[in-house]
Amino acid sequence: MGEWRLFSVGGTAFNIDATWLVIFAVVTWTTATSLIPRRLIEASVAAGVPPDATWPMIWAAGVVTSLLFFGSIVAHEAAHTVVAVRTGIPVRSIRLFIFGGLAEMDREPDRPRQELAITVVGPLTSAALGGLFLALGDQMEATSLPSITARWLGEMNLALAVFNLLPGFPLDGGRILRSIVWALTGDVVRGTRVASFVGSALGVAIMAFGLIQFLLLGSALQSLWIVVIGWFLWSAARSGYRHAVLRQQLHRYRIRDLLKPESGAVPSDGTVQEFIERGLYQDRFGLRPVVDAAGKLIGMLEGDDVRDVPLEQRVYTVLRDIARPVDLMVVVAPDDQLSVVIDKAYETDRRFFFVVEEGRVLGTVDAVDVVNTLRARKQ
Ligand SMILES: [Zn+2]
Repeated sequence: MGEWRLFSVGGTAFNIDATWLVIFAVVTWTTATSLIPRRLIEASVAAGVPPDATWPMIWAAGVVTSLLFFGSIVAHEAAHTVVAVRTGIPVRSIRLFIFGGLAEMDREPDRPRQELAITVVGPLTSAALGGLFLALGDQMEATSLPSITARWLGEMNLALAVFNLLPGFPLDGGRILRSIVWALTGDVVRGTRVASFVGSALGVAIMAFGLIQFLLLGSALQSLWIVVIGWFLWSAARSGYRHAVLRQQLHRYRIRDLLKPESGAVPSDGTVQEFIERGLYQDRFGLRPVVDAAGKLIGMLEGDDVRDVPLEQRVYTVLRDIARPVDLMVVVAPDDQLSVVIDKAYETDRRFFFVVEEGRVLGTVDAVDVVNTLRARKQ
């Protein structure tokens, strides 16, 4: 919603959020009406020459500056993306929105080293761009528009590197802090907890700073913006923590941990008559695995499949003959993640899934158990 896809590269879409237009307009407006004219005058006074630029030129410089500024943010996110993809984590999209950019990774890193590598390249890219723009600005006539905008872009990129290195999750600095605690303790949830706590504290501190600045200086717009950024960090740290813990629970448990041995399996050489005499068509196993003498899964049976066999044929019809093919949607592996059960439960509307390893039915897993496990462990 309110998001446009500009292009995609190697499976990663590049999207622009509607809120981004607001910030683009604000940056263009601020640079063209105040920042560039002010710096132009300062530079001209310092050089002892009259300012030499027309308003259309200044506005054009403002637009170009905004575009390059957002290009810098994209470069920062692209750096995260390249390392993430190289280390095996697909990145669905890079999104530009009102608070900057976001590389949306499909999953969290598996190892602290991987998280560290994915994270540090972002601020490093911003710092490198900052140095590049500053050097570029120094190479040109100090009173020229290109020099003024290049210097500003240099400063902004350095500021971006520093801001992102603040040690609160979900900022890059917070992710770095998390990876360090994670590496030291071997516990990603603890790392997330520490980094999120610092992140919320940081958010509160930034909000307080914005308020104090407003009270002392009375610069309403800038102070309000600082407060909004603080609030954004605070809420992102809190929800980021909840998501990280939930995702971690999904990763920590395997289906094997919730396995129940009974599967309702029936022998493939049993007859329909035996099946009915044992009342097997009316218990909780709506669907049953049919296994051969070696315990291998050869098919599945629904209660109706049995009832549809004419009375006079039930004595000599064996289950193997009426079994339907194995439906992979109701089968899971013991080492699958719990999320597999949730996904399949959504798609099939089933509650019980057969846990099968190397063709053998080990038992069942109940989607309700999966949900309860996740709910109980969520802190
Ligand atoms: Zn970053």
